[in-house]
This record gives sequence, structure tokens and C-alpha cells, in this order.
Amino acid sequence: MFLKRIELQGFKSFADRTVLQFDQGVTGIVGPNGCGKSNINDAIRWVLGEQSTKSLRSGTAMSDIIFSGSEVRKPVNLASVSLVFDNTQRIFATDFDEVEITRVIRRNRDAQYLINRTPCRLKDVTDLVMDTGLGRDSLSIITQGNISSFADAKPEDRRSLFEEAAGVAKYKKRKKTSLAKLEATQANLERLQDILDELE
Ligand code: ATP
Repeated sequence: MFLKRIELQGFKSFADRTVLQFDQGVTGIVGPNGCGKSNINDAIRWVLGEQSTKSLRSGTAMSDIIFSGSEVRKPVNLASVSLVFDNTQRIFATDFDEVEITRVIRRNRDAQYLINRTPCRLKDVTDLVMDTGLGRDSLSIITQGNISSFADAKPEDRRSLFEEAAGVAKYKKRKKTSLAKLEATQANLERLQDILDELE
């Protein structure tokens, strides 16, 4: 699985439809300060469900990521970003050679998500990417801040990053959720026993 293409329109500095093609292997994005390199990174995380405008380096409303105009261009009313992945190895659990995940937002409206151009919920996107190592909290995108915090991290925090990268973290999270459910069920059983004891 690899990212083949990003299509952006109206997202931050990308007022016009812009298509970036990627190949297998390492891709470097270079350009002068402020040309929009980090906005591409933001766009990827946005499609994958990022809900924090702060981590998208944007204003308080999610619609602030829509191109807000420049000296020579009027603002636009819609932002849309699509990520197109090669799925010939069926890493995504779907029977298509290409998987296209899209997020669209219009001013004063909630965002919409689409998988292969079919409208879906954020949860469907999250579920689709969950076991691929691509989730919005995964380590598939490493920012400059991540690197310095990794270098400065305490050993136990660094260990949790290794666990995330090795795919162990998700099982730990599932174990924690299951244990919490077990505990709740145990409490319910005890409560039920109390009621039964009272009735007898
Ligand atoms: P550097 O090399 O300095 O880190 P960069 O290439 O990563 O820069 P970005 O941070 O991706 O640059 O882009 C910054 C540009 O994006 C700024 O010119 C900013 O005005 C523009 N920008 C951000 N949000 C919007 C928006 N909603 N509408 C229009 N332009 C925007």
C-alpha cells in the first residue's frame, strides 16, 4: 500500500485544484518558506479525520481551513482533499485496487467523508485505516515536533512510541477497553446478586 496521489482544492493555500502524484519509495517536498509544504501534511491528516484545528495550524472553526483569499484571489466556499492509495496488496480490507478517501467541507456546514466517492461516516474512514498503520494518531506522519519530543522523551514514553510503531499499542488499547467492560459487567452482576439476595 502506498499513497499514489493527493488531490486538493480550496484547502488552505491550495485555492485551485492541485494534484500531487507520488511514486513508491521516498518523496521529498521542497519549496520556499510559506509555499505550502506543511499544508500538504495538514491535508493528509485532515482527510484521515483530524478534528483539532490547532494541530492543523488553523483558526478555531474547521471551515478556517478553506482558502480564505489572497491579494489576487477571492476566498472560496469549499475545501476538498482526496487521498488515493494503491491497494493491490489488499492492505485495506476492501476489494478495490485503489482506495480513495475524501473529506469535503463547505462554509457553515459539517464536513463530509467519502470512500471511493460513496458518502460515509468518519467512523467508516477510521475503521478502514485502523489496522493499516495510517490512523490520524499513528506514526505514519512524523512532524518536526514529534522528532524533538521523541529525543527528549522519558524512556517509558519512548517505549510507548515503539509499541505504537510495532502495532502493539492497539492491542493494549483493546485490552484496556475489554477490561473496563469486564469490570462494568462484574459490577452489574454483583448488583444483580444483591437484588436476588433481597428477593430471597
Ligand atoms: P515553511 O517552510 O516556512 O515551514 P511551508 O512551505 O510549510 O513553510 P505552509 O505552512 O504549508 O508553508 O503554508 C503557509 C501558507 O499557507 C501561508 O502563506 C498562509 O497564508 C497560507 N494559508 C494557510 N491557511 C490558509 C487559508 N485558510 N487560506 C489561504 N491561505 C492559507
